[in-house]
Amino acid sequence: AKSRGRDRYVVFDRKMQDRSLAIMQVEKDLRLALEREEFCLHYQPIVSLINGEIVGFEALVRWNHPQRGLVSPAEFIPIAEQTGLITSMSWWIFHQACCQLREWQLRFPHYQTLMMSINLSGKQLEQLGMVERVDRILQEVGVAASSIKLEITESSFKETPALGTILNHLKAMGFQLAIDDFGTGYSSLSRLHQFPIDTLKIDRSFINQMSRDPKGVAIVEAIVILAQHTNINTISEGIETIAQLEQLQSLNCEFGQGYLFSKPLDSHAASALLAQKVTP
Ligand code: C2E
Ligand code: CA
Ligand code: CA
Ligand code: CA
Repeated sequence: AKSRGRDRYVVFDRKMQDRSLAIMQVEKDLRLALEREEFCLHYQPIVSLINGEIVGFEALVRWNHPQRGLVSPAEFIPIAEQTGLITSMSWWIFHQACCQLREWQLRFPHYQTLMMSINLSGKQLEQLGMVERVDRILQEVGVAASSIKLEITESSFKETPALGTILNHLKAMGFQLAIDDFGTGYSSLSRLHQFPIDTLKIDRSFINQMSRDPKGVAIVEAIVILAQHTNINTISEGIETIAQLEQLQSLNCEFGQGYLFSKPLDSHAASALLAQKVTP
């Protein structure tokens, strides 16, 4: 029995080793990918649930792998976070999303108020000189902070002690601030009045639950009411069905995002969508 126990231990150990080797390999690949500019952004429309108009896009990173094709961020963002590579990757993403917004503002003047939502990692927020760097990119590209919405997940609140100071600074610069995946952490409610938040993004899991479980509806309703009382707007994530849309409309959720409206699109397809709207 003892030797079997030891075998098991060895097997376990080897698996751990395999995993760290695999992580190191991916890290190397990611570093190269950054140099070779293999990353690209896709853009998912965010629409008004009141009139169906596009109010903005969320920038979502993809890895255009030479052999594997488009790789999902769920596969490489966690490794980029673990290895610290996320910071240089995030700066590339921020710059790229700003450039895209600028291009759309110039090409589609009737979309003057279009917002670009950009996901920030906790690590990036903590970086020394973060605010100055963000400012430099805005100046260089020529977009206003007020047309950028920064999405921050609840977990980065726990990980970043100085977050309050940084968020106040970003807010003062004119950025809009959103809490991403709202409802999946537990510290969120107390943060609402502590931080200058403009938007709550209601996590997809709640939208999903609505059709199956009346409790799911109650949760979404509670979040929307809470937000209204604190002057915050709400975006529902992952809307896939008309039934979900109608339910959210009756709960007075203002904005939404999901496959029902559109999947994330490459730059070209997103531009085509904007071009469809005739100039008034
Ligand atoms: P997220 O920020 O919550 O982004 C929304 C995810 O839900 C996206 O997955 C989007 O494609 C997906 N989605 C949108 N509508 C629907 C729907 O109707 N049904 C379903 N089933 N899914 C929907 P994606 O692009 O694979 O991104 C996954 C996560 O990776 C993101 O979750 C975000 O946490 C992270 N991520 C993506 N891009 C970036 C980035 O540029 N920077 C950072 N730091 N993280 C990113
Ligand atoms: Ca997001
Ligand atoms: Ca989200
Ligand atoms: Ca999510």
